[in-house]
Amino acid sequence: MATPSKMKKYACKFQSEWKQEFQFIQDSSKGKGYVACKFCRTDFSIEHGGRNDIIIHERRAKHKAAAAQHRSQSSIMGHLAKWRPDGVIYAETKMTMLIAASNIPFSFADVYNKSVKNMYPDSEIACQYSNGRTKATQIVKGAIAPELDKEVMELCQNQPFGLMCDESTSRKMDKEFVILARVCDPKTEEVVTKFLHMPVCNIGAAENLFESLNTVLR
Ligand SMILES: [Zn+2]
Repeated sequence: MATPSKMKKYACKFQSEWKQEFQFIQDSSKGKGYVACKFCRTDFSIEHGGRNDIIIHERRAKHKAAAAQHRSQSSIMGHLAKWRPDGVIYAETKMTMLIAASNIPFSFADVYNKSVKNMYPDSEIACQYSNGRTKATQIVKGAIAPELDKEVMELCQNQPFGLMCDESTSRKMDKEFVILARVCDPKTEEVVTKFLHMPVCNIGAAENLFESLNTVLR
């Protein structure tokens, strides 16, 4: 019979060659017993199962959702990059961000699209600029929003945060459960309020609200 010392299990350590096999992983700042997932932006332990822990992580619903979001984001940006030079993509993305940040209706993208070539006739970028309402909406939904969502989640994962919640009724008469986070932004060292999520929760009983909140924070 094996003695207790012989039965001792050694913790698995991260092997660099796994990065070839699983392109979503990278070294973790927590040490060799952990792996960082680029899609989920989390670190998970591989001390018990090693490579098998990575396979288990890859099968999780949360990872699959993060991977799908990553694919759609890269395909939108890849699609833009394929057809347009960097300066044009920058101008289109920047204009879209200004529209969203200033709360201007997306129909303005159509108006601006028609005028920009007349306004800057000597600009190569303005001549190739093509960013109407449909494309601007897709840039916000598919590329900018997921990136900002990840930023807020990361902020909240790394430090204490407070939550502010309230329900509001949409034009479709759905009850939207607005969830905001109060958190310190390390870049500016100021406490800021960030939008976290707005799931639909039509029956606003405590149990349903808790379940919505739990799903968002999970
Ligand atoms: Zn993952």
